[in-house]
Amino acid sequence: MVLMIFLFAFGSGAYAKSFSDTENHWAKYSVDFVTDNGYFVGTSASTFSPKSNITRGQFVTVLARLEKVDTSYYNYSAFEDVKPGCYYTAAITWAYQNGIVYGTDSSHFSPDSPITREQICFIINNYLSLGTTAVMGSDDHGRDGIYADDNEIFDNFKESVYQMQSLGYMVGNNGYFRPKSNMTRAEGAVIISRLCGMFYEVFVPPVTPPNPDVGTMNYLGYYRLTCYCAGCNSPRGSRDTSSGAFATPGDYGTIAVSPALYEMYGAGTVLYIDGVGFRKIQDKHGNTEKVIDVYVSNDTTCKCWSHPFSGKSAKVYIVR
Ligand SMILES: [Zn+2]
Repeated sequence: MVLMIFLFAFGSGAYAKSFSDTENHWAKYSVDFVTDNGYFVGTSASTFSPKSNITRGQFVTVLARLEKVDTSYYNYSAFEDVKPGCYYTAAITWAYQNGIVYGTDSSHFSPDSPITREQICFIINNYLSLGTTAVMGSDDHGRDGIYADDNEIFDNFKESVYQMQSLGYMVGNNGYFRPKSNMTRAEGAVIISRLCGMFYEVFVPPVTPPNPDVGTMNYLGYYRLTCYCAGCNSPRGSRDTSSGAFATPGDYGTIAVSPALYEMYGAGTVLYIDGVGFRKIQDKHGNTEKVIDVYVSNDTTCKCWSHPFSGKSAKVYIVR
């Protein structure tokens, strides 16, 4: 509860909505982002239904909201099973007219069927190829490699699946992509957040750290974020530092700060980094600029150069 108050007061954007079923959910920050921006709406005033499958009609509707489509231009249907006047009708027509979506056959769209992960890749890739201005932060994060279930990906969707991987939007799990699996509303919220440059779940530590005393938060300013990991000494790494930590029960994950900040506050001081979370000063780096180096991975192969928030700026607060 203390954390919630803090986010209302200091977080990026106004967290206007709070859903009872996402309060402690792993995708909470993305759900807040997509609902605050009106891309998703709740399934009721107090619920988001994060575990429900997102349907093809729902996903295309979200994309149309993201693109701020004037739906009055598209209030007709291109498919037999997309009836005029449904919430998704204009969005599907817009997406079809612009080559973002295709039907499930020549006359049907199957708007109420769950959307699959490979279909989402294809649709997003088509959407991005329009050169839309709504999308930000799509740095090239480097391709991690072929999925173990690559042969299950529909041939026409393969290029899109790996394009989403290289952008860091959908990266699979343990080397598997699960192309035919459905996607939950929570996962859909995460994808849309990432399309907007907000990689919240990458930052959320594996356990919830202790709540700070919110009465003593001071805004420090904008800082540029860099990353360090357990593999920074590996051949692909670029730093000397290789010891850091994620949050554990009762403690925070670690950061390294500028010499000036380190002298002023010292090791052990907790900062709140917008979009990252609470982190504890561990060390100082050699950079005199306003840079915060955040521990991001226990992986012994350094991928810091491709981490989604490497180079991004964030508001930083000090917890005293
Ligand atoms: Zn590294």
